Amino acid sequence: MAKIQAIRGMNDILPEQTPKWQYLEDTVRRVLQSYGYSEIRMPIVEQTELFKRSIGEVTDIVEKEMYTFEDRNGDSLTLRPEGTACCVRAAEQHGLLFNQTQKLWYCGPMFRHERPQKGRYRQFNQIGVECFGMQGPDIDAEMIIMTARFWKALGLLDNVTLQINSLGTSEARKAYKAALVGYLSGHLDALDDDSKRRLESNPLRILDSKNQDTQRVLDNAPDFADYIDAESKEHFETLLSLLDANGVSYEVNSRLVRGLDYYSKTVFEWVTQDLGAQGTVCAGGRYDGLVEQLGGKPTPGVGFAMGVERLILMLESLDKIPAEVNNSADVFIVSVGEGTQVEAFKLAEILRNEFQSLRVVTHCGGGSFKSQMKKADKSGAPVALIIGENEIKNKTVVVKPLRDLSQGAEESNNRQQIEAPIVDLLDIIEDYLV
Ligand code: ATP
Ligand code: MG
Repeated sequence: MAKIQAIRGMNDILPEQTPKWQYLEDTVRRVLQSYGYSEIRMPIVEQTELFKRSIGEVTDIVEKEMYTFEDRNGDSLTLRPEGTACCVRAAEQHGLLFNQTQKLWYCGPMFRHERPQKGRYRQFNQIGVECFGMQGPDIDAEMIIMTARFWKALGLLDNVTLQINSLGTSEARKAYKAALVGYLSGHLDALDDDSKRRLESNPLRILDSKNQDTQRVLDNAPDFADYIDAESKEHFETLLSLLDANGVSYEVNSRLVRGLDYYSKTVFEWVTQDLGAQGTVCAGGRYDGLVEQLGGKPTPGVGFAMGVERLILMLESLDKIPAEVNNSADVFIVSVGEGTQVEAFKLAEILRNEFQSLRVVTHCGGGSFKSQMKKADKSGAPVALIIGENEIKNKTVVVKPLRDLSQGAEESNNRQQIEAPIVDLLDIIEDYLV
């Protein structure tokens, strides 16, 4: 019988990979907490209408990327392609936007029917942030400064650059759209098919076109800088000055429009050269009209999402994952001989009581001394404890160093295998936990 395989573009994250994911998530979570963000968890399935109304009908996502189906009641449901709309829906539904500000984050899978390739999948994970109720550029700035801190904490700051732009208000965009359509209509021949189609439906997205002929035509297109409204301009300038004052460098890119309809004023992307075509690792912006568009009171909003798979790829290719992340144990207990396993279990429990979060692995599943030692080595633990029949008699344990510790290596070089009285063991183990 043919074996059942995972769906194309949807990946299993295997045990060898999950420590890297946990490392990334823990690092990001710690930074988020240090800026006062709270976690929110939303369902993975929503009414299709939510995404149509928020992301916009004429976007790649809604036109061709959504996993939409009818449930048994005949309702049209969609696997969430992104988190912003879901977060706005949840915050509005539970009164979180009423007379208060919110700084929220979430993490989880998103679904888009795209062509799978490196850094682009059909189920992928985002860590996203959304802030509500703050209209000034201070929160935009703080949020971007926070993203810079993520990269610093992960050792990626030298490999990403910040691109930033302002899309102004919807009125300013309307005037600019008219000018852009006027200009591009005179250059129809040079436009790619998608761009021709978008000329009517979503002309700003043409600025995003990857087609070279289209990009050449755009070189002489009207510049949004001439159309931006005074308030948005001031917002943008204050934002940039806050970034300057905090040492966050950026490139202003007036062609940056982002793929979703709901953005206004600030938009930004962090991009890298290290991932080939899928170079954007984090993207977001301000969406002051979205809450109202979804039926709530006008409420300013700003947020971003980062692609976890792309960041993991970056961490791997730049070798930025700390060595200890890949180890599964701090202490490995080997037991050979009559009655030794029960002592091994007891010892493991004592160690777990004494040292919180110490990873103690007791060998289970039988096997010779040699095969147990192989497993101990593979676990990455710096030390093995060995209990045999003699040790039980002597009330001792053999302490065997397995490798140099990354810190204090000098000291560990001198470490010898010893047979230690059980009563001294806690002190000895403590030495290994530099
Ligand atoms: P792209 O231009 O690469 O398609 P996007 O503008 O569609 O990205 P957003 O909707 O802004 O992406 O999502 C935020 C981030 O989520 C992206 O910058 C990227 O890191 C990640 N991301 C988006 N789509 C995918 C995908 N199909 N597979 C993996 N990561 C993705
Ligand atoms: Mg996309």
